[in-house]
Amino acid sequence: MKPALSVVVPCHNEAEVVTAAHASLTGEIAEVVDDYELVFVDDGSTDGTLELIRVLAAEDERVRFVAFSRNFGKEAAMLAGLRAANGEAVVIIDADLQHPPELVPRMLELHRKGFDQVVARRTRTGDKPTRTLAAKTYYKVMNRLVDVKLVDGVGDFRLLSRRAVDAVLALGEYNRFSKGLFSWIGYEQITIEYDNVQRAGGDSSWTFRSLLNYGIDGVLSFNNRPLRLSIYLGGIVILASMLYVLWLTIRVALFGVEMPGYVTLVAAVAGLGGIQLLFLGVIGEYIGRIYYETKRRPHFLVKDSNVPGPW
Ligand code: UDP
Ligand code: MG
Repeated sequence: MKPALSVVVPCHNEAEVVTAAHASLTGEIAEVVDDYELVFVDDGSTDGTLELIRVLAAEDERVRFVAFSRNFGKEAAMLAGLRAANGEAVVIIDADLQHPPELVPRMLELHRKGFDQVVARRTRTGDKPTRTLAAKTYYKVMNRLVDVKLVDGVGDFRLLSRRAVDAVLALGEYNRFSKGLFSWIGYEQITIEYDNVQRAGGDSSWTFRSLLNYGIDGVLSFNNRPLRLSIYLGGIVILASMLYVLWLTIRVALFGVEMPGYVTLVAAVAGLGGIQLLFLGVIGEYIGRIYYETKRRPHFLVKDSNVPGPW
């Protein structure tokens, strides 16, 4: 009953490529397994992606789909896909063909050798230099702050064994940062590399702002180390100001009162104000997360699907 392989494809406005994605996935996979399923998750597309997926489902009995009531984001789409997938192994792949489907047979082969996670890592050739630099810096900072290991170039394109999928699904948090969750669950992992590919068509849904927000999510999703940082920084500032006051007192005792000091005052007030606001923001973010977790809202709503729920 359980297929050997499920392929989860999150789609948001991918009308230009979804049919091609189905064809090339089928071409690659049919060679190596007979019992597989393709799970397309339509994440509130507005360009007719869902209609195309319906056509695919009507023509190909291996196509499952889940359609969201609106755009809930790729994290939600992946979660829905993982829940819908029945396979002994599950591959998550982008619809835009930036994740080469040719890699899937190799992933499966490595999985059969006993790996629970086969992770695809892309090179950054052809990326905008600014984005490459931003990513490099981000991963450096991130790996210092967070206790799970994140690797530049590693995204959501990977194969997960059934027990790895079940482990990820057991993590019920509302704010999902899958890259981190995949790393958090552990198990036997192996990384394979592939060359960067540009989109086959359509546009990336990422804007600079959404990337920045995604980055902040990553830092705050795993532990309270940023709060710890504020304690350290606060300690350093207190120590420095005590030393400064001590030095001033000694100077006044020795040389008498001196009036100027305007710049020091302004610098201290502005600097400390900035640090306080920054960490107020950090604390606020954690409280915001608690707020969202306590609401226990579903991650997404399904408007149509050919897979039986519950969702
Ligand atoms: N995606 C999604 N929901 C969203 C944004 C993106 O399901 O809100 C899907 C999108 O259809 C694609 C994958 O996530 O299959 C990666 O998105 P995109 O290509 O925009 O990101 P990039 O490759 O630029 O990181
Ligand atoms: Mg893409």
